[in-house]
Order: sequence, then structure tokens, then C-alpha cells
Amino acid sequence: MKSVIFWMLGLLTVSTFAQENFKVYYEETDNGYTIYADNGEFCPVSVEIDFKIENLTSSIGDIKIIEVPEQTTKFYIADLTVVDRKKAIRLGFSVRYNHGNHLQKSYDTDYAYHLPFKKGTEHMVTQGYNGKISHANEYALDFRMPVGTPIYASRDGKVVLVEQSFNKTCTDADCAKFNNYILVYHSDGTFAEYTHIKKDSAKVQPGDVIKKGQHIGYSGNVGWSTGPHLHFIVFLQRFNDRETLPTKFLVGNGKQLTRLEEKKRYNKSY
Ligand SMILES: [Zn+2]
Repeated sequence: MKSVIFWMLGLLTVSTFAQENFKVYYEETDNGYTIYADNGEFCPVSVEIDFKIENLTSSIGDIKIIEVPEQTTKFYIADLTVVDRKKAIRLGFSVRYNHGNHLQKSYDTDYAYHLPFKKGTEHMVTQGYNGKISHANEYALDFRMPVGTPIYASRDGKVVLVEQSFNKTCTDADCAKFNNYILVYHSDGTFAEYTHIKKDSAKVQPGDVIKKGQHIGYSGNVGWSTGPHLHFIVFLQRFNDRETLPTKFLVGNGKQLTRLEEKKRYNKSY
């Protein structure tokens, strides 16, 4: 019989998605415990685990950040082995987690993104990278477009989250929590977010595999917004924030690849 004192088994979590879709847990074994994770999200999730153990050794030593593949159950994290069976055991851990591979540094920097609107139309970039209104230290683009303009996927991917329940608009940064958006995971580990979409306008749902040029929803003016537009970012997710990334788009007839600039109009004829 093992004498076990548990402490801190509550999970300390930092996440941007419903936590019922991800969990870390343990099962007792002959020699101690095995730690597992379930990931019901439609992309990998990184978990940072901090063991608080006494009279147990961890099979992963000091390794703290582990990537759990999408849609997996009982993903093996670590074994904790009892050192001295005659002594009491203390077992606890805290975790935090979020979408993506948080250890990832490189990605496809040359990807040719498609403009996120309909062939034959033209839109102005009203705020570009590091824009003064709301894009400080952010590689974000605002395309001005009337509410209800169809939005087309800029890149192939898998839909991770759709928020389309809000209808409120305000110009205070606190209103970002009322943003509607479509979050897409790309094959190189980056994410795209199409933000401020019209209430209940998404044409895709989590788990959908989408193709570039696919109609995914309609633009709006919801959340932290100073006027009807589409806010578009590509990023690598970190535990506490997003590392936004500069991207290039095909413009005009689709032969030219360029960084988009503030106050310029871009047409899409491909
Ligand atoms: Zn913006």
C-alpha cells in the first residue's frame, strides 16, 4: 500500500478555448502514476506542466512543454515512479495550455496568401502593420468593407474556433472580448484569424477543412472596431499572447506577390 498525500491537484489553466476540450489527468500504475492528456481541439495544443512531487521521479525530468496532437485521447505525457515505497508520496501538478506548438520558431515565410475577398472586387487596407489606431507591435491588416461583404479563405487550413454570437460594437480596447471571429490552423503550424465578422454569418464550423478561396463568412463591425472592416492576422500562438507574423499576398491578376501597405487599394482578379 502506498501512502499518498495529494496536493495542488487543481488545474491552473491559461487558455483561450473551452477547457472541457482539453484535460490533463493521471492513472495509478504498479510503480506510481502515469500522466495523460486528452485534446479534443482541431489543432495541436501545447501544455506546460509543473510537477510538485516528493518521493516520485518524473520520466521526462525537467521537460515542461509538451505538444499534444489534435483529436487525441489518453496521450502519454510522463511516468512518475515511486522512489521509496516505505515513505509517503506527494503528487501534484499545475498546467497551463493553449493552441499550437509553443516551441515552434520557423514557418513558411514565402506562402502566397490570397486576398480575403471576392474575385473582381477591390478593398483598401485602412490600417496596416503596426498601425497607429490599434495595431501597435502587431502584424495586422484591416480591409475596409461594408457589413455583409463575403469573406474568402486566404489559405488552406482547418477551422479551430468560430465565435459569431456577438452583435455589440465599441471603440474601447476592452471590447475585444466581444469580437466575432473565425480561427483557422495552417499546415505549417501558423494560425489565421478573420475578425469582426457579422453575427451568425459564418459558413464554416470547427473541424471543417477549408480551401483557399472558399467562402467562409461575412464581414461585420462587431467587437473592438471603429467601422465596418475585416481584421486579419497570421500568428504563432504562445501561452499568454500571439506572435503575429508578416505575410505576402497575391494581388491583381495573381502574378504579383507583395506586402500590403496602409492606405493602398488592392484588387483581386484571380
Ligand atoms: Zn485591425
